[in-house]
Amino acid sequence: MTLRQNTRKIRIGNRVIGGGNSVAVQSMLSVPSTDIAGSVAQAKALEAAGCEILRAAIPDMDAIPLIETIKKEIHIPLVADIHFDYRLALEAAAAGIDKIRINPGNIGDDSRVKQVADACRSRGIPIRVGVNSGSVEKHILAKYGSPTPEALVESALYHVSLLERWDFQDIAISIKSSDVKNTISAYRLAAERCSYPLHLGVTETGTERMGIIKSAIGIGSLLCDGIGDTIRVSLTADPVKEIEAAKDILQAAGLGGGPRLVACPTCGRTRIDLIGLANQVEERLKEVKEPITVAVMGCIVNGPGEAREADIGIAGGKGEALLFRKEEIVRKVPEERIVDELMEEIRKMTAR
Ligand code: SF4
Repeated sequence: MTLRQNTRKIRIGNRVIGGGNSVAVQSMLSVPSTDIAGSVAQAKALEAAGCEILRAAIPDMDAIPLIETIKKEIHIPLVADIHFDYRLALEAAAAGIDKIRINPGNIGDDSRVKQVADACRSRGIPIRVGVNSGSVEKHILAKYGSPTPEALVESALYHVSLLERWDFQDIAISIKSSDVKNTISAYRLAAERCSYPLHLGVTETGTERMGIIKSAIGIGSLLCDGIGDTIRVSLTADPVKEIEAAKDILQAAGLGGGPRLVACPTCGRTRIDLIGLANQVEERLKEVKEPITVAVMGCIVNGPGEAREADIGIAGGKGEALLFRKEEIVRKVPEERIVDELMEEIRKMTAR
């Protein structure tokens, strides 16, 4: 299986993915491509939220100027999402796009594929081949009966082969299904069959809550397998929410950097507003960059034990809490001072 460390490196503008580079968070503009001001505003909002690679639909020639306009306003790579029309890919390449998402099997004869491959190669622009359950070719569907993981991977590798024919290997692959299990199986299979970097995502996940759950299972399982070089959480919601969810998934999979909060679920022993405390600590930890583990526990039965595993933590009592740092009790803190004193102690710990 080709794990993250061993995938092929590709450069997307100022970002390198694959070959063990950190997993990049992607999202996509959702405003109409005709809305230039709206596109720029959303692109900036996504960059500010932590988006590391941004994709925009380029549905027609009128959308080509959007590329230059957006690129002037952001500092992260921009990807053109193109379907069927190879001329759009050529124009996007000429307009300075950083990556193109196109399926070469859908753009016509070989000479068109060659033109796109040549245009991208000469400018160092990679191509993402992206298949999903709805895009599997008829002849592959006939072979497998339905868009099974095998069918999805065969479809992706078919598109890839059309580029390889022109000696083009600056490729990333995505293989998305709206079925979480199929998505996981398909990516695992792809990681066995090729070494191109994989862009992970579960597609058409639905509205925010279920979308995040499906993505966390699908993307998270693969990340824990060591698979995946870029990720996108697709939500029927503001794409800024996609970035927040993607960062949380990376964090939960141990790939996020920054602090990790562990908190107990509370029980009949809890004598303090632990839910409120945990939420406040989570919010305040956004200002911390170091990879420390912080425990917020409801009582001293399990609190100190957990806090020993953590770098620092609190164990709630009645109207007060014990502040722990590794094995040591630092001090007792009154309830209203808990968050401030915890943060103060974290600042001391992380000061260089
Ligand atoms: Fe209950 Fe204490 Fe465990 Fe929290 S740490 S669940 S309060 S026993």
